[in-house]
Amino acid sequence: MAVIVQKYGGTSVQDHELVLRVAHRVAGLRSQGNDVVVVVSARGETTDRLMQEARRFTDAPEQRELDMLMSAGERISMSLLAIALNSIGCAAVSFTGSQAGIITDTRHTDARVLEVRPFRVVRELERGNVVVVGGFQGVSTAKDVTTLGRGGSDTTAVALAAALKADLCEILTDVDAVYTADPRIVPDARAIDEIGYGDMAELARLGARILKEEAVRFAERSGIAIHIAGSNSDAPGTIVLKEPHGQEPAIVGLSLLEDQIFLSVRRVDHDRMMSWVGAAAHPLFVVHSGDRIEIVVPGLPPGVVVPDDAAKDGVSGLSADVVAMNVDVVSIVGSGAAEGVVVTGAIAELERSGTNCIRSVALGRSALLVLPLGSGARAKLLLHDSFIGTGQ
Ligand code: ASP
Ligand code: MG
Repeated sequence: MAVIVQKYGGTSVQDHELVLRVAHRVAGLRSQGNDVVVVVSARGETTDRLMQEARRFTDAPEQRELDMLMSAGERISMSLLAIALNSIGCAAVSFTGSQAGIITDTRHTDARVLEVRPFRVVRELERGNVVVVGGFQGVSTAKDVTTLGRGGSDTTAVALAAALKADLCEILTDVDAVYTADPRIVPDARAIDEIGYGDMAELARLGARILKEEAVRFAERSGIAIHIAGSNSDAPGTIVLKEPHGQEPAIVGLSLLEDQIFLSVRRVDHDRMMSWVGAAAHPLFVVHSGDRIEIVVPGLPPGVVVPDDAAKDGVSGLSADVVAMNVDVVSIVGSGAAEGVVVTGAIAELERSGTNCIRSVALGRSALLVLPLGSGARAKLLLHDSFIGTGQ
């Protein structure tokens, strides 16, 4: 008998009918004799709506209270799914992250999983129940409810799969596989059968929203293979694992982050930049380029004010002391992505199409191209054509 952990994303449990559909799929697995643990996300836009609700009172709600509030979204999904399962004759019980034994650090709204103690989950499985767990949440070492950062239900699923030594960890979502690029932007994008942890983590970090980077890292550390597939599709999906079988292409995919902030500061202002870098939660990169330090961040950290006179006139303004620009970042990912020919080829290709590359950074398994705001999607289409192509 196999132990299976399945995670369903928010769009897959959005309404009554979809919850029932998930329930039938889960019940099918259970009736084949498997032990099934289901992790669910909050329905649809619930998490965003809850945050907006809090911000109607203040711009700076207490992080602890935000966690209490946001974790409620997953409670709704988990209890409804358990009710739906029981209603069709499949015995189920739901647990919050805390009840499922997800222990985290105390960093509210962006906590890290430290340990999983799934005693209650195991006991309920032994009793023959399907266990439904609210994703994205845990309990801190200080016994407060925490959440794991946006997209954190993926992390819950992988952490539980590792703790239960599951035979299968499935992330089921509204997209039926990991693609070489977002198919909504690049119609020629292809589904990837197998991808290594390193490339998947890079794609996730650089904008592919299908799986949270943290979850991939967790899977890598515990050697868990993740199967990503559509919640409502029979397509084979993608397996994320240590080493894909067969010859892996040097470039596996492209990702895009729109509307980021590029900051370039002359080195004399090193202290100011370092304080910005310190405050920024997750800079995409930090580079020392000539006499300047440059970073790309998703948004300015609270309290960081860019001086009014920061040049905003694109590349020509790059001699000013402080430059702040809204940009798009297109990334090429794969073991060969950081090679010089790829980077220079990409820049030349973009230039031919009239897009100026503000900065390029090639490191490890990716090449990042910082482009003017609004040009990212077209650039991604173009680069997909030249680096991945239409057929294989
Ligand atoms: N509901 C949370 C979010 O919207 C967690 C998740 O969906 O994984 O980010
Ligand atoms: Mg997600």
